[in-house]
Amino acid sequence: MLSNLAVRDIETLVHPYTNLATHRQNGPLVLESGKGVYVYDSAGKEYIEGMAGLWCTALGYSNQELIETAYEQMKKLPFTHIFGGRSHDPAIELAEKLKEIAPVPISKVFYGASGSDANDTQVKIVWYMNNALGRPQKKKIISRLKGYHGVTVASASLTGLPNNHIDFDLPLPGIMHTSCPHHYRFAEPGESEQDYSSRLAAELEEMILREGPDTVAAFIAEPVMGAGGAITPPEGYFEKINAVLAKYDILFISDEVITGFGRTGKMFGTETYGMNADTISLAKQITSAYFPLSAVMMNEKVYEVLVDQSRKIGTFGHGNTYAGHPVGCAVAVKTLEIYQREKIVDHVNKVAPAFLRRLDKLAEHPLVGEARGVGLIGGAELVKDKQTKASFEAKNGVAAKAVAYALEEGFITRAMGDRLAFCPPLVISEAEIEEMFNRCERALDKTLNWAK
Ligand code: PLP
Repeated sequence: MLSNLAVRDIETLVHPYTNLATHRQNGPLVLESGKGVYVYDSAGKEYIEGMAGLWCTALGYSNQELIETAYEQMKKLPFTHIFGGRSHDPAIELAEKLKEIAPVPISKVFYGASGSDANDTQVKIVWYMNNALGRPQKKKIISRLKGYHGVTVASASLTGLPNNHIDFDLPLPGIMHTSCPHHYRFAEPGESEQDYSSRLAAELEEMILREGPDTVAAFIAEPVMGAGGAITPPEGYFEKINAVLAKYDILFISDEVITGFGRTGKMFGTETYGMNADTISLAKQITSAYFPLSAVMMNEKVYEVLVDQSRKIGTFGHGNTYAGHPVGCAVAVKTLEIYQREKIVDHVNKVAPAFLRRLDKLAEHPLVGEARGVGLIGGAELVKDKQTKASFEAKNGVAAKAVAYALEEGFITRAMGDRLAFCPPLVISEAEIEEMFNRCERALDKTLNWAK
């Protein structure tokens, strides 16, 4: 029997990323409050938020400092834009801090309000830059199958997942996808991770040569693929990709919307994997999700072209109302201060061995083909046959079933195809990690019984 709130939800909302038909029968999970790594539904049931919301609530759910910072900034100056050269202290301070901690040399920061608009900005800058440089044919952008970069028109085109393209008339022409670097699923039998990475780099190079290097402008990648299945790259992958991009003067965009700010055990995934990025997209953990904010960090080479173009044509004609929102910037400054003060990266490295040990143990479960991660992010793939790696039939929705059992057990995870994601708030303790995996294992046991 659906609650009154559930009925009102069904009658009023179109939910993002939801099967709109089954939602009409099942109704919503209504969450009401949160504390630390826990959230509570409207019936008072407790869940470990194993996804940190959507890979974003790094500091958990009841951080008073962030709440007070937002409140104070709202009282002082709830809004001003930064169009036409207007500015404010939190926007400047945040940009300074980001430059200080950036994993590669960064010259300037451009703000937005979501990861999707940050990646749209990346695409527009690439196009604008190449027109400014007098090479209007160098516009194509290469992304990866199963990459996730958002849902606005350009960023959904970068995304390499069928649901974001089918019937949306996407991807845009000029945006193409190379292979997904998932060793477990796509390597040849017996192929080492290094050899597999070499093969993928060679494949990327072939694509560039086939298209014509003077037509390929940029390559975009997440350090760890998130919505594509929480997939960590094979050994040597980014090193080999770096070399190909450098050879053909192709800009490297690192999408750190999930991995930024400690998730992989370093401040940035770009650093963890040695990516020679020219520009970086940030969002989510930049404010620990207490306020919507995104940023594009760009190196001097890119910035110089933008300034030169303004000398020629005037205004840089891009930006949205909430870019550099003072409340978002103030919350982000405070978030970064807390990350530094609380040594969040050290904390991740302290608890990551427990997280990774339990992920490894999960791989022993009869349903789990692969479980692998880095820092505090990981994925587990559910298979019908561990020996042959055969998948369940898609229509059976095995991971969706596991997610439902996990909810029963008080653990929030997310299904991506046949994979489950693990991405708890960074402040999680070892004891909470153990509890999270205990709940997960109980859910998988129930799923196994259901699948028999
Ligand atoms: N890029 C990555 C790597 C993401 O994981 C996401 C969202 O999950 C996005 C971009 C899009 O961000 P948003 O949902 O804030 O538009």
